[in-house]
Amino acid sequence: MFRRFDPKSHHQVTIRREARIEGVGLHSGKTASITLKPALPNTGIIFVRRDLEKPVAIPATFEFVTQTRLATTLGRGDVTISTVEHLLSAFRLLGVDNALVEVDGPEVPIMDGSASKFCDAILSAGFFDQSVPRKVAAVKKRIEVRKGDKVALIEPSNRLQIKARIEWSHPAIGVQELSYTLGKSDFQEISKARTFGFLKDVEALKKAGLVQGGSYENAIVLDDSRVVNPEGLRYEDEFVRHKVLDAIGDFALSPIPIVGNVTLVKAGHEIHAELVQSIFSNPENYEVKTLDEIEAPLDSPFAVGQRIMKPARVLQGSF
Ligand SMILES: [Zn+2]
Repeated sequence: MFRRFDPKSHHQVTIRREARIEGVGLHSGKTASITLKPALPNTGIIFVRRDLEKPVAIPATFEFVTQTRLATTLGRGDVTISTVEHLLSAFRLLGVDNALVEVDGPEVPIMDGSASKFCDAILSAGFFDQSVPRKVAAVKKRIEVRKGDKVALIEPSNRLQIKARIEWSHPAIGVQELSYTLGKSDFQEISKARTFGFLKDVEALKKAGLVQGGSYENAIVLDDSRVVNPEGLRYEDEFVRHKVLDAIGDFALSPIPIVGNVTLVKAGHEIHAELVQSIFSNPENYEVKTLDEIEAPLDSPFAVGQRIMKPARVLQGSF
């Protein structure tokens, strides 16, 4: 057991204590609360609907993804839990392998639209070294998913690196690129980046009975020319940072953590989930290794270490 987070752990990690988080559900607009609890080694992240007469457990893996529009939804039978991606991203950013997430309804609260509050809760719960080797799925070859001009691909590497590029013909977004390496980049470089939406879409979705909890409190909202939120942006390139945050959450929908160099162009939840699915569709695509077996040049692929990212600015050009 360690009292402080040990980012170099080659062992599996769970949280030390329970942590409760309460907020608004994006879709229902009602209060939603979750309780994070420690879990045994090799459990992964499991969501449990506690509000049902007979609680239903849903593992956070791609086999249980039922919907990727607006947010990632997990389901088992007719029981669902939506908006799981930012919490999953927080677990992965901080190197937590195993945890139970008890949910009192069909949604994880949206909080401020980023992973910030989830990271705070995990940090306050503390970390527990479980003395069992951490295993990863190291991809052995290039695997690519394309849908029109959207691309998600992964190539072999010793750690999980995500290079993302977004292109929006909107004056406040434009072309943004970011490279983030789990274990080398500081988690705070992306943990506070909020989700975003367009005023006209939000109005239409609300009329359709969706995103009833959506507000300036939990998203960057844009009109035709600018960011409408009075406080503005948290990072100049907050949009691409949030895409990376989402991708880390979506890549956490794997039975064990994936390591490889990921390139994403105009990607989103759906294509991220398809890439994870393609990796695990063929056992020839990856090799299960402990971190001791991987020749990691620096700390573990899950370490939270030095910041090496590009400075926050809108970039032109391509990679
Ligand atoms: Zn998101």
